Amino acid sequence: MPALANTPTDRDLTDWDRTHNLHPWAGIHGWRRDDYMRVNTAEGIHIWDHAGKRFIDGPGGMWCVQIGYGRQEMADAIAAQTMTMPYASPWSFTTEPAAMLARKLADMTPGDLNTVHFTTGGSTAVDTAIRVMQFLNNRLGRPEKKIVISRERAYHGSTYLAATVTGKERFKTRFDKADDLVRFLPDVNPYHRPQAMSIEAWCDEKIADLETLIAQVGADRIGAFIAEPILCSGGVVVPPPGYHRRTREICARHDILYISDEVVTGFGRLGHWFASQEVFGITPDIITCAKGLTSGYLPLGACIISDAVMERIAGPDENDVFYNGYTYCGHPVSCAAALKNIEIMECEDILGHVRRVTPHFQDRLRHIGETFDIVGDARGMGLLGCLECRLDPGNNSYARQQKFGAELDAACEDMGLLLRPFGNMAVFSPPLIITGAQIDEMFDIMEAGLTRLSAEYA
Ligand code: PLP
Repeated sequence: MPALANTPTDRDLTDWDRTHNLHPWAGIHGWRRDDYMRVNTAEGIHIWDHAGKRFIDGPGGMWCVQIGYGRQEMADAIAAQTMTMPYASPWSFTTEPAAMLARKLADMTPGDLNTVHFTTGGSTAVDTAIRVMQFLNNRLGRPEKKIVISRERAYHGSTYLAATVTGKERFKTRFDKADDLVRFLPDVNPYHRPQAMSIEAWCDEKIADLETLIAQVGADRIGAFIAEPILCSGGVVVPPPGYHRRTREICARHDILYISDEVVTGFGRLGHWFASQEVFGITPDIITCAKGLTSGYLPLGACIISDAVMERIAGPDENDVFYNGYTYCGHPVSCAAALKNIEIMECEDILGHVRRVTPHFQDRLRHIGETFDIVGDARGMGLLGCLECRLDPGNNSYARQQKFGAELDAACEDMGLLLRPFGNMAVFSPPLIITGAQIDEMFDIMEAGLTRLSAEYA
């Protein structure tokens, strides 16, 4: 292999990336392609590509860049921790940032969620939550009670267990999964309900789906129910009012652990540290989080467990060990980054800011739904949004409608806005520091893109 050039050219970098870097979720037939945008710098809500073109980061990284890019305080905190204690084995040691962050998260989460198991990201947090359920039921002498109820279109991650409970089929293609471990509830998206059905009747139907499944499988075989407060990668699906409260009650009644996957909704996305209690009025048994915990500056996740579960897990045998962990559990530099991120959010009242700009963001979103016929549903909550293209199999543009997300993203990219495409949907979750004027700029570009596509689809 030739030696690396001292100063790589644009062409070198493109070639090396195409030849050696297998990107996540990449089309495998074409993974040797060169169409990844190479980004060089970022500040605030903006990203610049290597040619110097500026974009609004509509997806906020991958739903994670809460405080925006280029924060000097983050760089300083990360550098300071790197110089004092860059790594400490979690098997043998603890560190100030890990202990402080665990305490902080216990304070921020609702109810008795007071025990934090740090992980490397969201998938490993979900993995841990399921393993906690398995450990608990083995401990209690009920090894049959292990099935997880999840939901179609849910995304919970890429480890074996997290992918198993992920309800997006395309994420499992050609991979094995532990099918025996999981059952999926049908689509919960209110937009997909029959035309004449009220939202209340839709909620009743979804609750009945859960009760029927529990009756079919048997509560004595079901260990956990996992749900995102808002089903994000599944298309920012906002549940009907009362849905989470009712599912929570059913789980409690059947001694089924309720795992709230707040990997996206945590850390201010809906104007609160966590959405479970503050937005939806429930206290789960376990909360999983990652992403916004560090605003994406470094990888970190956490599985936060209630005292009630911990008390049942802890046994009388002094040799008993919770054999779950990672080399980078409680990584001191990641924890220092998380603490600084949380401090910035507190000092700048970013939660208050999100609550203040949300009505404008959601009004502009709703306006799109009312104005553009090709948009079947424009939905969201907090600083989360999704445009779902109306699918009309009888229309000449049907094939294009199914790729609406990518087509709208391409149209907006020309005008300096990035979106995240999912089939016939485009989603966005900009950095939480976005101002009212920047929200207008973002939606103005989207409207221009939709005007272009409306003409083409006609
Ligand atoms: N859970 C949810 C709800 C997510 O959206 C994601 C990622 O998008 C994950 C879990 C997995 O997180 P990670 O990619 O950090 O492993």
